[in-house]
Amino acid sequence: MTGDGTRVVHAGLPTPVPGRPFLPGPVFAAPYHLDPVEGAGEDGYGRPDNPTRRALEAAIGELEGGAVRAFASGQAAITALLLSVLRPGDTVMLPADGYFTVRAFAEGTLRELGVGTVLAPTSGPYPSFEGVRLVLLETPANPGLDVCDVRAVAADAHAAGALVAVDNTTATPLGQRPLDLGADLVVASGTKALTGHSDLLLGYLATRDDELLHRATTWRAQTGGIPGAFDCWLAHRSLATLDLRLARQSANAAAVAGLLAGRDDVTGLRWPGLETDPSYARARAQMRRIPGIVSFDLGDAERVARFLTASALVFAATSFGGLHTTADRRAQWGDDTAPGFVRLSCGIEDAADLLADLTAALDEA
Ligand SMILES: *Cc1c(COP(=O)(O)O)cnc(C)c1O
Repeated sequence: MTGDGTRVVHAGLPTPVPGRPFLPGPVFAAPYHLDPVEGAGEDGYGRPDNPTRRALEAAIGELEGGAVRAFASGQAAITALLLSVLRPGDTVMLPADGYFTVRAFAEGTLRELGVGTVLAPTSGPYPSFEGVRLVLLETPANPGLDVCDVRAVAADAHAAGALVAVDNTTATPLGQRPLDLGADLVVASGTKALTGHSDLLLGYLATRDDELLHRATTWRAQTGGIPGAFDCWLAHRSLATLDLRLARQSANAAAVAGLLAGRDDVTGLRWPGLETDPSYARARAQMRRIPGIVSFDLGDAERVARFLTASALVFAATSFGGLHTTADRRAQWGDDTAPGFVRLSCGIEDAADLLADLTAALDEA
C-alpha cells in the first residue's frame, strides 16, 4: 500500500475480526485486572500502558517510518525530548523563528538547568555545530514558513556529533518524513493538521533509535504526560481523512496565495508553494505536499481586526491545520512577529467561497 489515502485509512488498524469494529473503541482504564498468580501482562496500569494509545502510535509510526510515543500535547513531546536528552553543560540549537514556547522554555528552565541555547534561522546560515548536543529544526517554521534543507543540516550536525530532531507539526508525515531525510528524531504537535478537527491536544515523538526511544518511554512513564484514551481514539479516527484534508487545505492555500499576491494592500506574503517564495525550491525538493498555511502582513492590529470582523468564513483563532479557515494575529500572544502579521490557516471550505469572502473582507478592512 503506497498511496497516502490508502495508508491513512488503514494505519494502525487491527487485523479484521468478524463482529469487531474496524477501529476498536477507546479502552478506559487506570488499573487493569492482573493475573493473581502471574501479575502484569501487556497492560497493568494506564500511565505506561493503553491499547488505544498503542494503536494510535502504530498508526503515526507507519506514517513517520519509526517507533512513536504519544504525549498529552506537542509541548509535552518537545520538552520530553529536550529533558530526556540534554544534561547540564550541554548546548541545544533551536530555530530562531520556530514555535516561540520552545524558545521560552530554553531561556527559562533549560538555562536554569545549565543547558545553553544557540539560535539559528531556519533558512540558514547555520552556525558551527561543534559542541552542540542536539539540533532541533522546525521546517516549515511556524509562523514564518521558512524551510531548511534537513538532509544537509543533518549531515553537518552528525559530523560534529550532534543529534538532530525535526518538529514536523506543520508538514505532517504526509508532507515530509524527516527520519528518511536523516533526522534521528521527530517531534510534533498532533493538535494541528495531523488530527485537524480542532477538538483535542496531542503530541508525539518518533525515532528509529532504540536507545532514544527507551529514554523517551521512560521519561513519559515517570513524568506522566500521556494523552487520554478518548483523545487517542479521536485522533486515530481523524487520521483516516488526513490525505483528503491536506489536499483541500493545500489547494485552498494555493488559491488564497494567488489572490493575495495580486493585492497591493497585502505585504510580506509567504506560502512555500508560490514560485516566488524564498522557500519554494527547498520545499519542492524536500516536501511531498505544501501545507495550507499562508502568512502575510496587513500593516497594523486595527486593520487585522477590521479584516477579521468583516470576514464571515475566517474565524479568529490561534492554532492551525483544522477544517475551518482561521486567522491569528500572532503578536497578540507576545511572540516577536510584526503587529500586522497574520497566519491564515486554510480549512476545507470551497475555494470560491473563501476567495469571495477574503476579497470582501480585505476590501472592507
Ligand atoms: C502548536 C505547536 C507546538 C506545540 O503543540 P501543542 O500541541 O500546542 O502543545 C509545537 N511546535 C509547533 C511547530 C507548533 O505549531
